[in-house]
Amino acid sequence: MTLSLPIDASGPPAMRGGTPPFDTLVPLAWPDVPSADELDGAVARILESRVLTNGPFVRQLEQRVEERLGVRHCIAVASCTAGLTLVLRASELTGDVVLPSFTFTATAHAVAWNGLTPVFADVSPDTLTLDPSAVRRAVGVRCSAIVATHTFGTPCDVEGLAQVADELGVRLVYDAAHALGSHRDGVPIGGFGDAEVFSLSPTKMVVAGEGGLITTDDDELAERCRIGRDYGNPGDYDCRFVGLNARMSEFHAAVAIASLEGLDARVARRNALAERYRLTLADVPGLTMPSVADRDGSTYKDLTVLVDARRFGMDATTLATWLAADNVETRRYYAPPVHHQQAYRPRNGDRWRTSLPVTEQVADEVLTLPLWSTMSEAQVEGVVAALRRIQRHVDPAAGAEPVTLPAGPSEERAS
Ligand SMILES: *Cc1c(COP(=O)(O)O)cnc(C)c1O
Repeated sequence: MTLSLPIDASGPPAMRGGTPPFDTLVPLAWPDVPSADELDGAVARILESRVLTNGPFVRQLEQRVEERLGVRHCIAVASCTAGLTLVLRASELTGDVVLPSFTFTATAHAVAWNGLTPVFADVSPDTLTLDPSAVRRAVGVRCSAIVATHTFGTPCDVEGLAQVADELGVRLVYDAAHALGSHRDGVPIGGFGDAEVFSLSPTKMVVAGEGGLITTDDDELAERCRIGRDYGNPGDYDCRFVGLNARMSEFHAAVAIASLEGLDARVARRNALAERYRLTLADVPGLTMPSVADRDGSTYKDLTVLVDARRFGMDATTLATWLAADNVETRRYYAPPVHHQQAYRPRNGDRWRTSLPVTEQVADEVLTLPLWSTMSEAQVEGVVAALRRIQRHVDPAAGAEPVTLPAGPSEERAS
């Protein structure tokens, strides 16, 4: 895509007849995949060896991740969803699991596939991660685990959540799909709670094609996950429990090993671009970015902003359609929140009506903007220029009427 900057800031946005700042679509994300050269003949070697699964590439990937994150065990699996499902299964849980509703649905699917009941708790308005005090309020006697997501790569309040889990005597598992490369006060995400699970699907920080990584310091849990990814069979065909086929193939492991190489550089680049967004968005009324504590590091897997419709002059859903006219692709991560999704309404009985005020407000306001590691600074500035031009056009301070789309079925609210 080429940029036709400077855009005419005083003119109308593309939605009202102006020239789009980009002549082709600026994508939301652009996967970082290793080149064939970087794979260095691995595919041919795997084919020649006839060892297509459970082989040396998977073991090498696991060892590199163990070293990098300083954890005792890494178990490579077929996906993050399978990894989360397996960790919960291997932990022999019963009853309820407390988790955020403001997360990707797979977090809740892992709970539901185990026949456990998801109990949704609210997130903190600053970081959009699970709020430990909300967990305390949501938890009942049937609770056996907490699952928390490092949302968009922002580390959770791991100390606060550990304290709640300790007090209640329940398991603590992290959905770390976004957080390979994040750290909490210098300590890599991967060693917190009883286990953490990363995703290696195409838009995540390290890419295998499809894949996931379970990391844990718990020897027994690790062993059960290793057996569990192989149907529950420790090798003697006398399955110890009902597992899955959640193995990672050697081909996927080879791609992931090559992808791991450039991780630090990509995280650094994404942080520089996120900082650029933060600086240039600072004077646009009604747009804010969730916070990441100074001592923490985020991967910025997604660059999600909050749109205050009254101050900006337009709600997030409408803004997405206006940006699309400007050739800027966006998504609304995570709207609708899980407890409002069709799959969870009946399952959760009347509990989907549970009031999660922060989640509901944030889900109304989120807008995820383009960010990928080879994006240029000029592209970021083009996106922000488009936002600024739209805002000026609908500025409530200048007397414009706020612009909103009529609420669709997915926006339906519990009253
Ligand atoms: C992508 C994602 C998952 C699922 O990962 P897969 O590897 O595709 O199964 C789970 N949780 C979150 C937060 C995600 O973004």
